[in-house]
Amino acid sequence: MAQAPERGVPAGYIAPLAAVDSARFGIAIVTADGREFAGGDGDMTFSIQSISKVFALTLALGVAGDQLWTRVGVEPSGTAFNSIVQLEHEQGIPRNPFINAGAIVVTDVLLGRHEPREAIGEMLRFVRMLAGDKDIFVDETVARAEEETGFRNLALANYMRAFGNLRRPVEQVLGVYFHHCALAMSCRQLARAGRYLMTGGRHPETGHSIVSARRARRINALMLTCGHYDGSGEFAFRVGLPGKSGVGGGILTIVPGVASIAVWSPGLNERGNSQLGTFALERLVHRTGWSIFDPRPG
Ligand code: GLU
Repeated sequence: MAQAPERGVPAGYIAPLAAVDSARFGIAIVTADGREFAGGDGDMTFSIQSISKVFALTLALGVAGDQLWTRVGVEPSGTAFNSIVQLEHEQGIPRNPFINAGAIVVTDVLLGRHEPREAIGEMLRFVRMLAGDKDIFVDETVARAEEETGFRNLALANYMRAFGNLRRPVEQVLGVYFHHCALAMSCRQLARAGRYLMTGGRHPETGHSIVSARRARRINALMLTCGHYDGSGEFAFRVGLPGKSGVGGGILTIVPGVASIAVWSPGLNERGNSQLGTFALERLVHRTGWSIFDPRPG
């Protein structure tokens, strides 16, 4: 099917993603005072893919604390999400937790002493708790397709293992990684799951601390500088908010203190980020003055 150029091209590296209707578009906004807005296909589930790296990082920081930063850096990569080139120069320490190599190390931390099945279960429970929604699930068809075609991720993982930056067997780490990438969520579920990053680390319903305010601030900083791979500068330039994209066409964006926003449109730009999703966020921020670079009243 011919793609309208302004919508970009959906990811084609696995069949379940290539099969998604490129005409879909959804948005959901949850505000700090608890209001919720959803539009278009905002309640339709899609593959969150790399957006799961935000939740995996949050959990891994709870396990390893700041020691995690000895194994993963905090600098933008300027390279594609699955690039291997920097790893040799940097001795198996990935640039940041939001490129694949970084998320694979984060997943190794999550695995800890667990069996893979337990680590996947922990991740699923965590995301359900964040969203306050027990219906969130892992799409096994997507996870299996990733496993069958994940040659680059296997290369990244083996390379880091050779440098001693992966503790658990490569197959186990990747099994867990592919499963959290295969989480299926709607924009509404995703915007709800992101609320703790708008509230300085607190769960807005239970009041429990998910992460400290300092960690929430740092995760937001990494989303701003590294959340869109080698397109992170452009996203900051156009939208000016912490955001994490996935090749399924979703973007989770945080307006600290104000809103958690999720958009979804499967067509991607040349850097693997949702074309229409980015455009919608750009328009929204223009209309609301929600960029973190807009002056705040008072
Ligand atoms: N599961 C995908 C991969 O590892 C995630 C890529 C992405 O969303 O950027 O290739």
